[in-house]
Amino acid sequence: MIVVLRQGTEAQERERLIDWLKGRGLEVWVAQREGQTALCVSGDVAAVDPRWLSSLEAVDSVRCSAEPFRRAGRGVHAQDTVVEIGGVKVGGGHFVMIAGPCSVETEEQIVAVAGAVKAAGAQLLRGGAFKPRTSPYTFQGRGADGLELLKTARAATGLPIVTEITDAAQLPLFEEVDVIQVGARNMQNFALLRELGRTRKPILLKRGLAATLKELLMSAEHIMAGGNGQIILCERGIRTFGDYTRNTLDLAAVPMLRELTHLPVIVDPSHATGIARLVRPMALAAAACGADGLMIEVHPDPGNALSDGAQSLRPEDYAALADEVRRIREVVAK
Ligand code: PEP
Ligand code: MN
Repeated sequence: MIVVLRQGTEAQERERLIDWLKGRGLEVWVAQREGQTALCVSGDVAAVDPRWLSSLEAVDSVRCSAEPFRRAGRGVHAQDTVVEIGGVKVGGGHFVMIAGPCSVETEEQIVAVAGAVKAAGAQLLRGGAFKPRTSPYTFQGRGADGLELLKTARAATGLPIVTEITDAAQLPLFEEVDVIQVGARNMQNFALLRELGRTRKPILLKRGLAATLKELLMSAEHIMAGGNGQIILCERGIRTFGDYTRNTLDLAAVPMLRELTHLPVIVDPSHATGIARLVRPMALAAAACGADGLMIEVHPDPGNALSDGAQSLRPEDYAALADEVRRIREVVAK
């Protein structure tokens, strides 16, 4: 249930209403939307009469949501979910910096990037071993070997690893992976999502190229229905008629998702733009609009990268960006 308060409602009155709702065993999460305060109320909302709430001076409107994403929505779980990866927390005010190359190429490459992004403040290392490529003739990733190299980089730096799964049959290989990524192309691979629901691994679920927010949340729901609630959503750009970027970064998705769901929402400005020089402004904008983190591609030699070199930052540029992100976070910290 969403209770929108009238503009100008005194803080005291708002707190009184929140206390009253909590006194009935309900959970309340406060969201700001278009200058108005909305109380997202969850639990056994049938215990409150929406008509009585509507009649209160402080209340502008009451909406009883019947969203199909029961577990992912704020309807049943108002408070932000905090996903924990080793000692790293994501969501509920904890901002995560994930960085690394598009693909794991060699031990030297992945260990060097891991060290550099760690020094810049990244908390998780990304790197693709199983690569879903548009062309079957381009580099397809190092597969199981790549996962071993990621583990080597983790041992060298202590950074937990995030890497993409492309087929449920690969799951046994992912036992020691810290976060399993579901790429945009697999967002609606329901058989894969079902298998991931059976695991207790944190999942990084990327938005499909042409997926609506409802479809993204329903994909999260597929994982959650299996009992795995450790999900981080990722906006990575969608297909539009924008012609100078690889995709169009849908930044409004961030505050919208934060209203709709308790799951953390991060942004990948690398795949969203496809252009290294656009990564910085979009990363800052994402941090400013309330994202719970950023996933950014970094390569020591972008010109010779085996995939996505054009959108990869050099380590020194990533370090400068990470500093700026921290400054933006100080301004907008929740
Ligand atoms: C990736 O993160 O390596 C990737 C392939 O991204 P996406 O699934 O968003 O295209
Ligand atoms: Mn990539």
